[in-house]
Amino acid sequence: MSTIAFLGLGHMGGPMAKNLVAAGHTVRGFDLVPAAQDAARAAGVTVIDTAEEAVTGADAVVTMLPNGAIVTSVYEAVLPHAAKGTLFIDSSTISVDDARAVHALAEAAGMQQVDAPVSGGVKGADAGTLAFMVGGDDAAFAAAQPVLEPMAGKVIHCGGSGNGQAAKVCNNMILAVQQIVVGEAFVLAEKLGLADQALYDVVTGATGNCWSLHTNCPVPGPVAGAPSGNGFKPGFATALMNKDLGLAMDAVSSTGASAPLGTHAAELYSAFAQDNGDLDFSAIIQTLR
Ligand code: NAD
Repeated sequence: MSTIAFLGLGHMGGPMAKNLVAAGHTVRGFDLVPAAQDAARAAGVTVIDTAEEAVTGADAVVTMLPNGAIVTSVYEAVLPHAAKGTLFIDSSTISVDDARAVHALAEAAGMQQVDAPVSGGVKGADAGTLAFMVGGDDAAFAAAQPVLEPMAGKVIHCGGSGNGQAAKVCNNMILAVQQIVVGEAFVLAEKLGLADQALYDVVTGATGNCWSLHTNCPVPGPVAGAPSGNGFKPGFATALMNKDLGLAMDAVSSTGASAPLGTHAAELYSAFAQDNGDLDFSAIIQTLR
């Protein structure tokens, strides 16, 4: 079993660190917020006073932080304190460019490093069933697999550095567009006199079926437990979808890719997030009525 430093013990990082402890690893955790430290301590994490101290002597360092600027500053702070050859895994959702930049920092300091963003949300973090999308060379991927396994339902090697983040932004751009168009279909059906349940029953057995319908149905009734039946309590918060679409748009503009629907979805979510950031992203249907 390994000694793993875990930096960022929030909604996602806390339960991920808990699953590493449950798998028998020694986890040395650090977070700026006392409540996150307390929850991690209760889950068996050894909470350390500074990030620099947490990485000292660790075999692997996992980061689960809010954004690319913070990941960069944490890497700059801790890299000099880690032993050469330490494996760095960044599971935060950050831009492809930032992911490649922090990879270069880690490589220059003599470390192995992968980007390994996740999907599956807080529920998946708690259950240890996250999907990890990993970018890095074959040796770093092989080294990362046993560390990721206790937190994972699925681990997919997406190619070189940054490709995990590339997969994540592409997936979430698809998801955003689908959630909007599923909402549009329910609103159109209502205007045409077609019942929500009838539309649901037809489309879940037809070619329009998708997660935004069969699991995250934006009207209450057809799917027990969907956020739409619970005042749009997330789920996946609009603020997080807006963040991820911002990263997708960074990638669209830096590559010159054509993404007219993704761009429009980003505009709609950016406006909706102003006052509704804490609602599930399926609540975008409210803007269509
Ligand atoms: P969060 O805000 O709950 O947790 C982030 C934690 O990082 C906080 O506890 C914060 O105190 C800590 N932190 C900030 N700066 C720090 C520093 N310099 N050193 C140490 N700790 C620091 O956010 P979250 O929901 O856990 O998300 C974390 C990452 O995972 C984000 O990049 C997010 O986009 C991504 N993500 C979140 C979800 C989700 O459903 N919440 C799903 C997939 C991916």
